[in-house]
Amino acid sequence: MPNSIEHHLTDALLMGYSAATLPEAFSLTIATHVSMCDECRARLGAFDSIGGAMLDAAEAPAMDPSAMAAALTAAKLPPAASPVPRKPGILPTPLQSYVGGDLEAVKWRAISHGVRQAILPTQGGATARLLHIRAGTAVPDHGHNGTELTLVLQGAFMDDGARFARGDIEIATEDLDHSPIADIGDDCICLAATDAPLRFRGWVARIAQPFLRI
Ligand code: ZN
Ligand code: ZN
Repeated sequence: MPNSIEHHLTDALLMGYSAATLPEAFSLTIATHVSMCDECRARLGAFDSIGGAMLDAAEAPAMDPSAMAAALTAAKLPPAASPVPRKPGILPTPLQSYVGGDLEAVKWRAISHGVRQAILPTQGGATARLLHIRAGTAVPDHGHNGTELTLVLQGAFMDDGARFARGDIEIATEDLDHSPIADIGDDCICLAATDAPLRFRGWVARIAQPFLRI
């Protein structure tokens, strides 16, 4: 199957993941994208190798230049293929272990008209949730106090003039206010990770916010 993913992770996120410095919710989202995306898996392999070479260099005080060059060449090679999912489904393998199965195991709760969520158990100051957005529905207009990663698992949405479909990841930061709209057709299912509360414009959403942990 051709790789049709158009929206990828940044180097900074892949490096943070490789160095294991990110909160669990972000690591889960990145691991899930990487499991679906050959391009980011290859880039992550390179960062993993560079990190390993730097650790080796730190242990050996004088690394000779040819060994460093060899390590960097090795870093550009694609990594070994990732393990085959135990049960192919809408949720890729890294997510299935959090949910305890595929979509049928998800316990959804309504958060606004046409939008449901399921918060996943993660630790470390960020939150991961699955979002189920009915086809043609808009997510309430909001801004961000931190970083929000949104990975599409089913269907697609339009946001800020771009289309995000299965495997695509959207990275929203403090300078983006948005109201993503699910495509007509399939309902849209996403995995979203946030490290700070969102800023909602509508007063109904603001009042409900503490109850929804969003
Ligand atoms: Zn990618
Ligand atoms: Zn957002």
